[in-house]
Amino acid sequence: MRLDVLTIFPEYLEPLRHALLGKAIEQGILSVGVHDLRRWATDVHKSVDDTPYGGGPGMVMKPGVWGPALDDVAAGTASGEDLTSSLPHVDKPRHDELAGVDKQAYGGGEDSDLPLLIVPTPAGKPFTQEDAQAWSNEEHIVFACGRYEGIDQRVVDDAAQRYRVREVSIGDYVLIGGEVAVLVIAEAIVRLIPGVLGNRRSHEEDSFSDGLLEGPSYTKPRSWRGLDVPEVLFSGNHAKVDRWRRDQALLRTQAVRPELLADVELSTADRKVLGLD
Ligand code: SAM
Repeated sequence: MRLDVLTIFPEYLEPLRHALLGKAIEQGILSVGVHDLRRWATDVHKSVDDTPYGGGPGMVMKPGVWGPALDDVAAGTASGEDLTSSLPHVDKPRHDELAGVDKQAYGGGEDSDLPLLIVPTPAGKPFTQEDAQAWSNEEHIVFACGRYEGIDQRVVDDAAQRYRVREVSIGDYVLIGGEVAVLVIAEAIVRLIPGVLGNRRSHEEDSFSDGLLEGPSYTKPRSWRGLDVPEVLFSGNHAKVDRWRRDQALLRTQAVRPELLADVELSTADRKVLGLD
């Protein structure tokens, strides 16, 4: 997968070189280009924003800068160095890689030669795990990081000629700029690319994959500060452990995000645990 990020703060994207993403870069699964938007600014001050038509506070990012930048990135003519991995990781296999489960892609990718342009904005459609799964099959994703009051809307409208454009929000709050949203979205997508986590099961059981929040997890020691790991996890009975995990996921979802249960198919046993029957 190829990621390109357009931003006025390239250094904000440094975390994309670390941990699993850095490892994916090193393995050749991922390449990342981070481009300073000011390279496309034409005035002496390299300005990228101007006052809003119709008045109001704040500044709006200029179409005359964003348009050529997005054209160049779509055409592959935006020069610059790709991010390098922060550390050598390749020789250190993870626990779930050692499990030796086949690397398999999720379905749901869109069928088009155009790259995907993701424009983070609080006014966008909420970003979900389902989007992350579908987009983990993409070959080329471009991110446009807004600042100030955002980007002139015509940039997004015009980009639809060269991209499949998605305006997405990472939550109902307002950040200062799109860079942090890009880190969130890129991390959620890249971890689902086959080979990045190694074992597909490790994300198939994550929160949201089956519509529920994941229940609690435990590791050694068995007893810590007077708190014991639930007995069932030592039973060796996989069916019993699976049932317990399902119950915990149901109860946590009911307590924290009850609205999610409306989209989950509940068995008789599930309904009983939730006290619905
Ligand atoms: N005036 C915009 C509005 O009210 O919808 C807010 C602009 S915000 C200060 C500046 C930039 O931060 C946005 O262009 C976007 O890139 C990013 N941003 C802020 N909140 C976000 C969110 N919840 N999800 C995704 N991106 C966000």
